[in-house]
Amino acid sequence: MRDPPPHLATPMILVLQSGASEEQIQHVVERVESLGMTAHLSRGTYRTIVGVIGDERQLQETPLEAIPGVARVISVMDPYKLASRESHPQPSVVDVAGVKIGGGHLAMIAGPCAVESAERMDSIAKAVKAAGANILRGGAFKPRTSPYAFQGHGEDGLKILRDTGDRHGLPIVTEVMDPRRVELVVKYTDMIQIGARNMQNFVLLTEVGKTNKPVLLKRGMSATVKDLLMSAEYILSQGNPNVVLCERGVKGFDSATRNLYDVAAVPAVKALSHLPIVVDPSHATGRPDLIGPCALAGVAAGADGVHIEVHDCPEQALSDGEQALLPERYAEVMQQIRRVAEAVGKSISN
Ligand code: PEP
Ligand code: MN
Repeated sequence: MRDPPPHLATPMILVLQSGASEEQIQHVVERVESLGMTAHLSRGTYRTIVGVIGDERQLQETPLEAIPGVARVISVMDPYKLASRESHPQPSVVDVAGVKIGGGHLAMIAGPCAVESAERMDSIAKAVKAAGANILRGGAFKPRTSPYAFQGHGEDGLKILRDTGDRHGLPIVTEVMDPRRVELVVKYTDMIQIGARNMQNFVLLTEVGKTNKPVLLKRGMSATVKDLLMSAEYILSQGNPNVVLCERGVKGFDSATRNLYDVAAVPAVKALSHLPIVVDPSHATGRPDLIGPCALAGVAAGADGVHIEVHDCPEQALSDGEQALLPERYAEVMQQIRRVAEAVGKSISN
């Protein structure tokens, strides 16, 4: 059998049932060895455990729990191998057309929910750039709950966003929802956004994994931290190392906020993974009055950036107007973010 790369050699522990017979123990050892792995027996007074060393990929289709006499199977390492800190102890730094994210560099992603018109995009870009944003956002393909709601301007929207970003010296990020459109979106954008609704669209993740574009992977609204890291693994396993995670809130029971902002996910992800993670207090709270404080909490908790929706006339916005910050308020929030960033030893790259 081919030797696995060192980071994929995963130890497992099989805990045998207390009454496991000698015959069962021998069968477990034989079964493990027949899979090309090494079994290390450790006999206690009441329990025997079997350490299994080898390439865990061999075990994916093997239900070790089903071997007679096995009580529990414990995986010693995380299933998200490439995303894990074990495989990569240093924090990753992702470069989005010259803007660094991670390792002390903060991304300040701002812009409207959707690209609406060239004029509107221009005035918002000018304002967020002046306030210190370093990446411009805007959706051209919008995931809307209603099929009758504004769906985005498609390729025309991509052109407007590209042009606006270029004129203001801002790299751009925009969402792709359809694997068949990855090629088109990649032609225009500096960073691909995978939205919350598509975090587990594995076909889409595989497609963006085949590109070399940085990816902003948003946490699904019912996804655990482990689910998020497994989705990142899909992209990484295709050879694209440029993944930035995004905490954007999960479904909660309280309608006081649009979602439940899980700020603890930031240090929780950092403990498990080397990938940068930014926060999105706009979608997490859905409330302009909460975006500022939640942005500060995110940076204080170790986030590598903040993603905020900004609109110069929220009442006319074609999507997410109710949560958009006015440019003046965004500038104030940015002042405060700078102070928190300084306190935690980070800086906003430009
Ligand atoms: C968005 O960024 O506009 C968006 C739709 O976000 P999410 O996927 O987090 O809901
Ligand atoms: Mn939005």
